[in-house]
Amino acid sequence: MTDRLLGVEAVPVPEGFVLPLAQSAGAASARQAPARPAPASRGDAAIPTARPSYKPTPTRPAPRSKPAPTPASASPMFSKRYPVLQGLSTQDKREKLTAIQAEFEQDEAVQQTRPTGTKLVWSDGSVDAKIMFIGEGPGEVEDREGLPFVGPAGELLNKMITAMGLSRQDVYIANVVKYRPPGNRVPTPQEAAISGPYLARQAAVVAPKAIVALGGTAAKFALQTHTGITRIRGQWHTFGFTDPGIDLMPTFHPAYLLRSYTTDNRKKVWEDLQSVLKRVG
Ligand code: URA
Repeated sequence: MTDRLLGVEAVPVPEGFVLPLAQSAGAASARQAPARPAPASRGDAAIPTARPSYKPTPTRPAPRSKPAPTPASASPMFSKRYPVLQGLSTQDKREKLTAIQAEFEQDEAVQQTRPTGTKLVWSDGSVDAKIMFIGEGPGEVEDREGLPFVGPAGELLNKMITAMGLSRQDVYIANVVKYRPPGNRVPTPQEAAISGPYLARQAAVVAPKAIVALGGTAAKFALQTHTGITRIRGQWHTFGFTDPGIDLMPTFHPAYLLRSYTTDNRKKVWEDLQSVLKRVG
C-alpha cells in the first residue's frame, strides 16, 4: 500500500497500518528542512543537565523487549520538585504563568546567558490543555515570531496534532530553552539548567495529564537521562520535576522526522501519539 502518513510525501506504508492523516501536507517544508548531520542536530541532541535535582517518581517498567531506559530515579539531578497546582481556574493559570514569565525575564542568569537580540519564546496553546508538548528551543522562525514551533518543524507538529484529532489551541507547547541559541546550535547544559526549571513551573501550572517530549534534548532534560531518544521513545516515563510527576512520552522531534522521513519513523511517532491519546482519554 502506498499513501500519505503524517503529511509530507507519498511512501510505502505497511499493510494494516492505520493512516493518521487523510490530508496531504507540507512537501515544501520537508524539502526546506535543514539537512544537518543527525548526531549533532537540533531536535535530537546532546544532554542538558538541570540545575535542580529532585527525587522523581520511578520510571515505569518497559513493556517491550527493548533495552531498559535509564530510570529517572538514577539521576541525582531531581532535587527540586514543583507542586502541581490542581484545580486552578483558567484565569488563575494565566496569571500565574504571566508571573513566572516575568520572573524568568528578570532572572539574572537568564539575562546573562540570553543571546543578544533574541526574542522570548515562551509558549503557545491552551493553559487548560491535557497534553503538553515540549521541545528543545526556538529556531529562526520561532525567534522571529516569538512563538514555539512555527517553522518547518512546527508545521509538521501541527499535522501531528491534527492527526490526533486536536488543534494547536487544544494543547500547550513550550521549550526547554526560551531564547534561540546562537547559530541554531543545540542548547548548552548551562542554558538548559537555567531555563529548564521554568519549563517545569509551566508544567506545574498547566497540570497536563501527559507530556510529550519532542526529541532527544527535551527528553534527556525532562528525564535527566543520558539515554538516547531512540531507546527511550515509545515507553511511558515520569516527568520528575513536578510533584506528583507527570506521565511523559518521549518521541522523535518533528525536525528529525523531516530529515529522516521514513515509514518506520512516522509509524513510531504515530504509535507514540496514539498511546498519549489513550492515556489522556
Ligand atoms: N524546535 C524546537 O525544539 N522548538 C521550537 O520551538 C522549534 C523548533
